Amino acid sequence: MGVTVSMLASGSRGNCAFVASARTRILVDAGISCRETCKRMKSLGEDPQSLSAILITHEHSDHVYGLATLAKKLRIPVFMTGATHAAWARAMRTVNGERPQLDKLERFEAGYRFQVGDIEVKPFTIPHDAADPVGFTFRVEGAKVSVATDLGYLPANVRDHLRGSDILILESNHDVEMLRGGSYPWAVKQRVASNVGHLSNEKLADFFASDYDNSAVFVVLAHLSEQNNHPEIARREAEKALGHRGSLFQNQLLVAVQSEVLPPIRL
Ligand SMILES: [Zn+2]
Ligand SMILES: [Zn+2]
Repeated sequence: MGVTVSMLASGSRGNCAFVASARTRILVDAGISCRETCKRMKSLGEDPQSLSAILITHEHSDHVYGLATLAKKLRIPVFMTGATHAAWARAMRTVNGERPQLDKLERFEAGYRFQVGDIEVKPFTIPHDAADPVGFTFRVEGAKVSVATDLGYLPANVRDHLRGSDILILESNHDVEMLRGGSYPWAVKQRVASNVGHLSNEKLADFFASDYDNSAVFVVLAHLSEQNNHPEIARREAEKALGHRGSLFQNQLLVAVQSEVLPPIRL
């Protein structure tokens, strides 16, 4: 196998993940600026010009902030669903008054596989308050990589998609008590905690303790809230839940953060 995964940025101020085979390199989301994306890729020894495509999970700004500039600069295909594209274009017009142009737009539908180079992509629907949000599973060089962030809970269909993952990237957004006692306005707290909001440490721990198949060599906790979580709290909750299931060789636990690149995972 020869898969590389790195989280260039993860959290409510911008998300971008890098998934690569020996010959295909993709970004999942483009939520940090074009300049920062290129800088972080270079810090991994990767040339941004070598990217094959950008895949978008949904239109929230922490997933598309750098998209227009990055797509223009790199002139590579951008994959998103039709509804996500429409919502993104609408938001761009409202904010900038400009009609956004993607030279190479490729539309996909949740539930239908497609291929980017030698990486097979399967998008699946997730419960989140966006137009048509998706998670992804990737088949790369014989390994399965799954990405599911920005989801209020883990419904059965999502759990099914995650089975058999070698690298599992899952949201561990907030600590329920920190969110409850924190400074967010009531309506925002309600939104985050809802079934179409973000996955709490507790809900993720429930999954690990009850329904997780223990398949992953690496588990990455992602999209942590800087206000309502702490990397050590997220890690402790996940470790506790995985504790009785993990072995020495499985479930190496990593925590992705906003400000730094997560050193690459290689399988
Ligand atoms: Zn979102
Ligand atoms: Zn997000």
